[in-house]
Amino acid sequence: MNNPDMAETILPPAGPVTEVAANDSAADNTAAPVTAAGKSSPAPMADGDPVKIRSRNVDVFYGDKQALFDVGIDIRERMVTALIGPSGCGKSTYIRCLNRMNDTIEIARVSGLIELDGQDIYSPDVDVVELRARVGIVFQKPNPFPKSIFENVAYGPRIHGLAAGKTDLEEIVVTSLTRAGLFEEVKDRLEDPGTGLSGGQQQRLCIARAIAVSPEVILMDEPCSALDPIATARVEELIDDLRKNYTIVIVTHSMQQAARVSQRTAMFHLGYVVEEGQTDVIFTNPTDKRTRDYITGRYG
Ligand code: ADP
Ligand code: MG
Repeated sequence: MNNPDMAETILPPAGPVTEVAANDSAADNTAAPVTAAGKSSPAPMADGDPVKIRSRNVDVFYGDKQALFDVGIDIRERMVTALIGPSGCGKSTYIRCLNRMNDTIEIARVSGLIELDGQDIYSPDVDVVELRARVGIVFQKPNPFPKSIFENVAYGPRIHGLAAGKTDLEEIVVTSLTRAGLFEEVKDRLEDPGTGLSGGQQQRLCIARAIAVSPEVILMDEPCSALDPIATARVEELIDDLRKNYTIVIVTHSMQQAARVSQRTAMFHLGYVVEEGQTDVIFTNPTDKRTRDYITGRYG
């Protein structure tokens, strides 16, 4: 799979993201850029949970090949929505629609409606850089910039002028690392390279980097699949904590993880969303046979 070239959103100072952008997930972890995003209130749903991102009739093609068919999901505000389903069924494709990362894949074509707080994110007047600041993304493989821990987090806010000065920037870094559950572990070595941290710490650093630019939504594409069980548990706790402040969409192939961290689940199968709803209902009483088969491990 080709991951989109992130060059247009944010570049690390030493530039390795551009080098690796064309191959695999090494380029994936990228802090979202920043602008002063207007935050409007989300449209209420019939069942009372406010919707942050509404998608309808979403089709995605890679060249002639259709990867998503008529997808319609409501991503609820300040909840964790898990995207599950067998490999190749379109989970990453869908998550990349939500901050227009598919724009950077030349052969990808997206149609349908995706609204963030009621605003069509594919409308021509949408500033994609601003959109990606509001909808940040964390990928499977943690890849801190080849810079210090401090710089990894400070870089986005600095280049986007989010901090009024040095003290302000330091505060953003400390707050972001704290929110990412990493500050206590790294506070005495902020000048050490981010790449020297353990895998789990690196992933939390990447989460801190995403948080540093004040997103409203955080997309996570299998954020724990490169981590050991202890680091995974730590990130899962963090996700649960983050949902107080952010809307989270997580792709996971772990049914246990989906059940543990999410309140909503959408089941993808061959490019279709076959079932979507409250996680406890999906896991205890799925209506679709494909969901039942998948969560009971019959295929995947
Ligand atoms: P999942 O994340 O559920 O494993 P993907 O969204 O990665 O699924 O893939 C869905 C389908 O789209 C697959 O058939 C995959 O081969 C295809 N696909 C994904 N990314 C690309 C791409 N950059 N170019 C061409 N085809 C792609
Ligand atoms: Mg995927």
